[in-house]
Amino acid sequence: MLGKHLNNLLGLPELEFIKKSSHHKNTFTLYLQKKTKLEYCPKCATKSTTCYDKREVTIKDIPLRGKVVHLKITKRRFYCKSCKKPFTEPIQGIRKGFKSTTRFRKHIFWCASNFDNLKNVQIKNKCSSWMVYTSFYEHAELEVRKLQNPWGKTVGIDEHSFIRNVKYGHKEFVTIFVDYNKSRIREVVKGRYESDFRRDENLYNIPGRENVQNVITDFAPSMRSFAKSFFPNAKLIADKFHLVRLANNMVNLKRLEIMKDPKNSILKSRKNPLRKMLLMNSKKLKFSQQRALMYTFDLHRELEAFYKVKEMIVNLYNIRGYKRAKKAFAQITNFMSSLKMKGLQSLRRTMLDWKQEILNYFKRRVTNGKTEGSNRKAKLIQRQAYGFKKLPNYRLKLIYLCR
Ligand SMILES: [Zn+2]
Repeated sequence: MLGKHLNNLLGLPELEFIKKSSHHKNTFTLYLQKKTKLEYCPKCATKSTTCYDKREVTIKDIPLRGKVVHLKITKRRFYCKSCKKPFTEPIQGIRKGFKSTTRFRKHIFWCASNFDNLKNVQIKNKCSSWMVYTSFYEHAELEVRKLQNPWGKTVGIDEHSFIRNVKYGHKEFVTIFVDYNKSRIREVVKGRYESDFRRDENLYNIPGRENVQNVITDFAPSMRSFAKSFFPNAKLIADKFHLVRLANNMVNLKRLEIMKDPKNSILKSRKNPLRKMLLMNSKKLKFSQQRALMYTFDLHRELEAFYKVKEMIVNLYNIRGYKRAKKAFAQITNFMSSLKMKGLQSLRRTMLDWKQEILNYFKRRVTNGKTEGSNRKAKLIQRQAYGFKKLPNYRLKLIYLCR
């Protein structure tokens, strides 16, 4: 009677309980065996009733009341007449060649994703760090494979650094595809160029890419060209924040250029708050700060022009409506071309190149915020793990934790 209950408790329905022994202080040992009349050959599925041999295996299970549980299972070997070879009987719940039950490995996976450090997982389950590692990624892969979520309506694409190349020292990048509607990382791809994306099979296996309506990227040409062909019905949107950042950089570079001149050594002083003032929104400046800026602009007319362009770009995003934005955009680019200054022209070229994507923002009004937020999460996961070596593991962990 007790045997039957124990069997149900173990979750191995095929096995029959024989006896229990606990000579050791810290281990429970349970003796079990399978009691079927016939078995099927795993290679050719022929019935076999002739028992050829027996052997005992020791399988580890989930610890019980702080004691290690060992299942000693007597496995029979049968002889297959058509293959003319013996085979060992398979047991449900224990994978072939494994020394632990699937249930135990799943339990370790649960512990590893819920405990705050992996050392405690080892102590709790009385197993090695290797066991934790293999069990975790084995089950993470199964869980990720189960997620058959299609693409959402809005998708964000961005890259972040992953590891420093051991041989050549350069940084290696990964690109993440974020589903905005469900706020989850849908796929992680190695590299940041179009050819890298095209090579990735996982990306092509996700269903529903023709339903994507908005794709948000930063100013990377490779992502634009890939997104155009991969999401055929989507509108591409260049991120608002990145354009403002480009404008800010441009102003800052001009300031540094002016500082290089020995005549302007006052600007070089560390206490000079000019840098911050130049990058601030002009509406947020105090009266005294505005006066200081005016004074500087009197001395450096070029800096003033750069500042004006920056302010125009920032104000562009306060406009409502596509048509008005289009007009303002034309005004900005015309103003830039009329200035004929060196640093401005490259920004103008970028803006003209991305004109449609920038203006699409005014139709849909979505930003890259969620992608950048996911990047933050990804960096946190990297740091928590003290860095990753293998990209497949990193991918599994990111998708599983941000699902
Ligand atoms: Zn066979």
